[in-house]
Amino acid sequence: MICENIQKINEEIAAAAKKSGRSPEAIKLVAVSKRHPVEHLMKAISCGHNVFGENYIQEVIEKKNFLQDKVNIHFIGNLQSNKAKHAAEHCTMIETIDRLKIVKAINKHLQETNRTIDILIQVNIGDDDNKSGTRKEETFKLIEEVSKLKQINTKGLMTIAPLEKDNELSRKHFANLRQLGEKAQAEGLFSKNMKIEYSMGMSGDYKIAIEEGATIIRVGTAIFGQRP
Ligand SMILES: *Cc1c(COP(=O)(O)O)cnc(C)c1O
Repeated sequence: MICENIQKINEEIAAAAKKSGRSPEAIKLVAVSKRHPVEHLMKAISCGHNVFGENYIQEVIEKKNFLQDKVNIHFIGNLQSNKAKHAAEHCTMIETIDRLKIVKAINKHLQETNRTIDILIQVNIGDDDNKSGTRKEETFKLIEEVSKLKQINTKGLMTIAPLEKDNELSRKHFANLRQLGEKAQAEGLFSKNMKIEYSMGMSGDYKIAIEEGATIIRVGTAIFGQRP
């Protein structure tokens, strides 16, 4: 089922991209495998998929140790300062940076080994008290501060849209995230020619997110089924 699901989603990605005049290659599918066993990731790898999203450091370490270079892991969970270095060690991208303290800890850790890491700034785009992420007003300041850290490459913005009764209602949040990124670029916070990454959209609303400019979608349930 996992392979069929991935294939179906790739077809949906292509269709949504076409509908909005975009190239399907501009959209990266992150298969969110949190709380699923390593066998499920291996299944996905067997049909050519190797980018996964994980929320818990312990799982990141276990899966990465087992699968090694066969996987690229995006960290998409809440990050604590004391565990941040593990995320930097094992992940290709950390999508959930919303505080300077944590990203400073990561930068310090990476300095020791002279490595860099790609990150996204997580924005609480719907001003939802139950969601993490920087508030819209604080985002530019954080981008500015993070860009001073030499080991950190800020690639763009990520958001988890507030839970809405109808997926279509997520559209405005996705559009707002993209507008925020474009404004940041216009103000020089992202370099002029840089292609900003927008990580937005999950199982229920990824097609809408693509129509609104998502470059990374994070899909769990629609690939692996309900989480155990
Ligand atoms: C779990 C999770 C997802 C995947 O959600 P599904 O609805 O299962 O597709 C995406 N993004 C984040 C940040 C998550 O924690």
